[in-house]
Amino acid sequence: MRAPLGVVAGITPFNFPAMIPLWMAPMAIACGNTFILKPSEKDPSFALRIADFFKEAGLPDGVFNVVHGDKVAVNAILDDPDIKAVSFVGATATAEYIYQTGCAHNKRVQALGGAKNHMIVLPDADMEQATDALMGAAYGSAGERCMAISVAVAVGDAGDRLVQELAPRVRALKIGPGQQADAEMGPVVTREHMERIKNFIDDGVREGAQLLVDGREAHTHGQERGFFLGGTLFDHVRADMRIYREEIFGPVLVVVRAADFESALRLVNEHEYGNGTAIFTRDGAAARQFSHAVQAGMVGINVPIPVPMAFHSFGGWKRSLFGPLYMHGPDGVRFYTRLKTVTARWPDGARGTADFIMPTMK
Ligand code: NAD
Repeated sequence: MRAPLGVVAGITPFNFPAMIPLWMAPMAIACGNTFILKPSEKDPSFALRIADFFKEAGLPDGVFNVVHGDKVAVNAILDDPDIKAVSFVGATATAEYIYQTGCAHNKRVQALGGAKNHMIVLPDADMEQATDALMGAAYGSAGERCMAISVAVAVGDAGDRLVQELAPRVRALKIGPGQQADAEMGPVVTREHMERIKNFIDDGVREGAQLLVDGREAHTHGQERGFFLGGTLFDHVRADMRIYREEIFGPVLVVVRAADFESALRLVNEHEYGNGTAIFTRDGAAARQFSHAVQAGMVGINVPIPVPMAFHSFGGWKRSLFGPLYMHGPDGVRFYTRLKTVTARWPDGARGTADFIMPTMK
C-alpha cells in the first residue's frame, strides 16, 4: 500500500500565487499528509485565501498551514526533522540550493527551476499561426511564466517571414494595468526586476544583436510609476550572447536563425535548461523526430505552451528540475507517499520447521 510521509512543505514563487500551491497541497493532503505552504514574500496574501477556502470546505485545523517569510523561513523548513518532504518551484539557483540542502537533511525534494523555452519554426509552418502562437507565449503575463517561449529558432527562410510578421505585432502590444479591459500585457513584478530586464536589453544591444522592437520606452497610459515595459524583439541573436544563455523572465523574445532542422535541434539540446519546447511545422516526420530527440520535459507540436493536462505530471529536464519526480499527477502521488508492502500468511496450525533460507511463498 502507499502510506503518507507525515508533514510535508511547499515553497512557491511569485508568478503563480494560486496555481503552484494548488499543484502541491491538494495532492499532498489527499495522500494523507499535512502541508505547510511557504509562499513568495513578493505576493504572500493569496496563500491565506487558500487557507480560508480549505477551512470553508471543512478541512480540520492544522492540515493546511501557511508560514510567511523568505530565506529564514525556508531554512527553518529545510532544517526541521519533522518535515519529511519539500516541493519547490522557483529560480534554478534557489532550486539547486533547496535540493542539495533538503537532501543533506534526508528529505525527499522535488525542485523545479528556471527555463529558456525554445520554439522551432520550420519553413513549412503556417507563419500566421506561428506568429499568433509566439505573441501569446512570449508576451503573455509579461513573459513571467516558466513555460513562456523566450527563444524563437527560425529555420532557413522562415526567419525573414517570421520577423516581418512579428515586429509590427510586438510594436502594437497594448500595455496597461490588468483592470483595463483592452490591456494585453501588464507590469512586471518589481522595480528591481524591471531594471534587471532593461539591463538584459542593454547587454543584447552591446553584444551586437539586432534590436527590432525596444520595450524600454513603452507607453504606459498614465501609469508612469508602475513597472511597465513594452514588448522587446531581438533578431540575429547568437548562442554566446547573455540574452540567449540566461533566463530573462520578462517580455523579451529573441530570434535565432538556424540553417536547418538539425542545427535548430542542437541549440535546444545544448541549452542548460530543458523545461518546455515546441515545434511549428506541417511535416509529421519532423515533428516525430523532434519529440523523440529533444532534451526537454514538455514538448509541443504546433502548441507553443505545452503544459500537460492535470492528470499528467509537470516538470522539465536538465537544470529546470532537480530530483526524480515531477509535480502533481501520478508523480505527485509517488512523491507524497512511500510504499509499504505487507507479506502475510495464516498457517493452519500445523507446525513446520525453522526456515534458514529467504522465505518464499509456499
Ligand atoms: P525565487 O527562486 O526567487 O523564489 C521562490 C521561492 O524561494 C520564494 O518562496 C522565496 O521566498 C524563496 N527564496 C528565494 N531566494 C531564496 C534563497 N536564496 N534561499 C532560500 N529561499 C529562497 O523565484 P521567483 O522569482 O519567485 O520566481 C521566478 C522563477 O521561478 C523563475 O526562474 C521561473 O522560471 C521559476 N518558475 C519555475 C516554474 C517551473 O514549473 N519550473 C514555475 C514557475 C516559476
